[in-house]
Amino acid sequence: MCGIFGYIGNKEAIPFIIEGLKKLEYRGYDSAGVATLNKGKIFVSKCVGKISGLEDMLKQKPISGSVGIGHTRWATHGRPSHLNSHPHEDCTGKIVVVHNGIIENYLELRRKLADKGHKFTSATDTEVIAHLIEENLDGNLLSSVSKALKQVKGSYALAVISEHEPGKIVIARHGSPLIVGFGEKESFISSDIPALLK
Ligand code: GLU
Repeated sequence: MCGIFGYIGNKEAIPFIIEGLKKLEYRGYDSAGVATLNKGKIFVSKCVGKISGLEDMLKQKPISGSVGIGHTRWATHGRPSHLNSHPHEDCTGKIVVVHNGIIENYLELRRKLADKGHKFTSATDTEVIAHLIEENLDGNLLSSVSKALKQVKGSYALAVISEHEPGKIVIARHGSPLIVGFGEKESFISSDIPALLK
């Protein structure tokens, strides 16, 4: 189980997320990634290896937005690779998810979703969550996530952003920590306290 950090407010999200993820580095990880919402569109950047590698990528190809989520991964299902790094996307790329923990019934869910036509690009347990949310879209992101999670067994802390509802981060946890920090006109999420202290 590794790190999650997210920002929503009126400033650029990426600097907060990178700083937050760095504070979670002590937990160990094999890859790192971020996603932002900018003018209603999702942008993703991720890589295997260190957060400094992700920073280099972001310098070459910046992504911006004042809503964003980031992740450091410690692989449990699927080897460390670009495709297995978080954030994970649904078929349309309009829903992205970062997740800490393990989805125990992911194989069964993956089979059911594949039968319905969902296309998987990673070997992770996490990716089923993005497709399950897509399958349960009902016009309200929070309720779509909640319907999706009713079918999930295991432990999770997760954060979801979506082009369907751009001004929002939906978060959920079950058996894994996730903390919300409320600021003035901005909020933060983190899987551990040290990243929120500053
Ligand atoms: N089970 C997920 C994966 O293997 C999340 C791992 C984590 O908590 O970092 O991608």
